[in-house]
Amino acid sequence: MSEKELRDLKAELAEKFEAYKAQGLKLNMARGKPGAEQLALSMKMLDVLNSQSDMQTSDGLDCRNYGGPDGLPEMRELLAQMMGLQAENVLVGGNSSLNLMFDTVSCAMTHGLPGGKPWCLQADRKFLCPAPGYDRHFSVTEYFGFELITVPMLPTGPDMDMVERLVRSDASIKGIWCVPKYSNPTGITYSDETVRRFAALKPAAPDFRIFWDNAYCVHDLTDTPDVLLNLWDECRKNGTEDLPLFFASTSKITFPGAGIAALGASEKNLAVLRNHFRYQTIGPDKLNQMRHLAFLKDMNGVHAQMQKHRALIAPKFEVVEETFAEQLTGKGVAAWSKPNGGYFISVDVLDGCAKRTVALCKEAGVTLTGAGATYPYKKDPNDRNIRVAPTYPPKTEVKAAAELFCLCAQLAACEKLLQNA
Ligand code: PMP
Repeated sequence: MSEKELRDLKAELAEKFEAYKAQGLKLNMARGKPGAEQLALSMKMLDVLNSQSDMQTSDGLDCRNYGGPDGLPEMRELLAQMMGLQAENVLVGGNSSLNLMFDTVSCAMTHGLPGGKPWCLQADRKFLCPAPGYDRHFSVTEYFGFELITVPMLPTGPDMDMVERLVRSDASIKGIWCVPKYSNPTGITYSDETVRRFAALKPAAPDFRIFWDNAYCVHDLTDTPDVLLNLWDECRKNGTEDLPLFFASTSKITFPGAGIAALGASEKNLAVLRNHFRYQTIGPDKLNQMRHLAFLKDMNGVHAQMQKHRALIAPKFEVVEETFAEQLTGKGVAAWSKPNGGYFISVDVLDGCAKRTVALCKEAGVTLTGAGATYPYKKDPNDRNIRVAPTYPPKTEVKAAAELFCLCAQLAACEKLLQNA
């Protein structure tokens, strides 16, 4: 476009923008939260326990009392199946997998993991952060004083050439954050080759760990779901079963904040972590485990519940994708992901335009995840990536928010191009 054409377009977009502002929208697509209708899907779970319920586990434990630090046997079995592990390798925790990840890093910091000294004794400790990635992962390791190293995310997963090169040569690198299925925010699932390369890693640090956060393992949105190769099986073939630490939860199956989280690991890793948790708590909330078991029953129950979630949220993803396709295709101002599952659409706007796009949306009443949040230290080197979370608002509002997003991305691009003209 000529400078004149750009100026005219900017004026036209600015006028539309003012009209949006006048509507006084108040929408939020910032965090991956289930919408109210999704939460309603699990309300019956609250009916399954009452004063008449049998409170004994299959092995005779009274769930109202202390005990059962590893979790109810049936809950370990169910979460193990969900995560592709064996029940004896799974510990059931409290309500949050992020909490388990934090505690695992904390344990490694103060007491060390098998094969290594406490991480706090390594002054220049580093952690690999595939980006765009999950901001709360990065924050945990930033909080514990790690230098965060950005690893580019490719369509196949993290850039494994870089991962292999770095971990082979640098013993101060202690781990990597991974969301292997329907990655937050890019929505991609790691390829079989990527999983095999993870299982075959030869880190210089004996206490290097892969934090395999399978938060979206059953969160499909289509009839052709992605299939993730089982890292545990691959590690066992390679004799590297101490490398991975597995995490998952029912946060986006039942209730976020009131679900059940689990950690899976080799016997050696579990011995250290179990001991650490022993000091922390006399045991998890077994009544919530009972509720979950009575409500979900087995993996068929989990899949049936996920189908109901899908029916509610897939249309919201479709609205965003349709709106983006209609309003942004061929304009060269944005590229966006089309995930088969998970909770996010990842958008790359024109370089240097993400912060401005998010600020414009905010000005007109739509809150998005802060620009930069998907990168270590919240600094996107290209100021390009924006995470869109369409699940929380009602579908009509998602449409309005997506339209405004398209307008703001174009307006920000016009401004940028005119600055450079
Ligand atoms: N991991 C990822 C990748 C997530 O996206 C989220 C939630 N947004 C979590 C973990 C948090 O899980 P939990 O509720 O089990 O702490």
